[in-house]
Amino acid sequence: MLSLRNLVKVYPGPVTALRGVDLEVPRGMFGLLGPNGAGKSTLMKILSGLLEPTSGEVTLDGMDLVRHPEALRPHLGYLPQEFGFYPYLSGQDMLRYLLELKGVTAPQGLKALVAQLLERVNLTFAAKRKVKEYSGGMRQRLGIAQALAGNPKLIIVDEPTAGLDPEERQRFYRLLAEIAHERTVLLSTHIVEDVAMLCPRFAVIRQGRVVAITSPSEAKAAL
Ligand code: ADP
Ligand code: ADP
Repeated sequence: MLSLRNLVKVYPGPVTALRGVDLEVPRGMFGLLGPNGAGKSTLMKILSGLLEPTSGEVTLDGMDLVRHPEALRPHLGYLPQEFGFYPYLSGQDMLRYLLELKGVTAPQGLKALVAQLLERVNLTFAAKRKVKEYSGGMRQRLGIAQALAGNPKLIIVDEPTAGLDPEERQRFYRLLAEIAHERTVLLSTHIVEDVAMLCPRFAVIRQGRVVAITSPSEAKAAL
């Protein structure tokens, strides 16, 4: 279980991006829905250890993520908004490089792990192709392969479907739903369809505050 307590982030300016966020994120798929500027990316960066909050607490199964980000890194997978740097590497080389950076080790060897992860996201056929030749959906799937390495308890996914066409989006939804069986997947998006399709529950964030925690059916009834 991921818990956020009174999370505040003030950027120089000052701009208050988070105004005291309290949230309990259960296992499975959970959404964070809000318009641009609401504070979603700020929250995701704090969770992934890229940004320190001004104040507040984040814990994963009781471990303090703010004070001990290193202890949590192995339990965390992150798919950033735009995935697909290193366009001249092949998919398998890029994945291997990212696993090495992350310090992932595998009893079966990294090469075998890379092959397994590519299989998991249906990219075996494109393992040797350069990432620049991948479609948007294929890049996002490679991003999921990277996030799955080390079998983390929590995967956070930041605006994953923005550049995808409807068919790629459906395919990506199916993959996310599959990987959420075994862990917590926190999906941040401004696209209502994303949470409606995927998230039994989701938080609505506006101007740095959680203004509702709801389900797709409750939200529909309220409209
Ligand atoms: P979202 O991801 O929901 O679009 P963000 O977390 O990116 O929201 O932004 C929340 C607020 O914080 C916005 O007002 C944005 O302009 C501001 N902001 C984001 N990053 C910075 C930064 N590095 N410096 C100053 N203000 C920022
Ligand atoms: P996206 O998630 O972007 O829709 P696709 O899996 O559809 O990605 O892949 C894009 C291209 O690769 C398409 O032309 C598709 O037909 C082809 N493709 C997808 N899966 C395979 C496969 N297992 N073997 C060969 N080609 C494939």
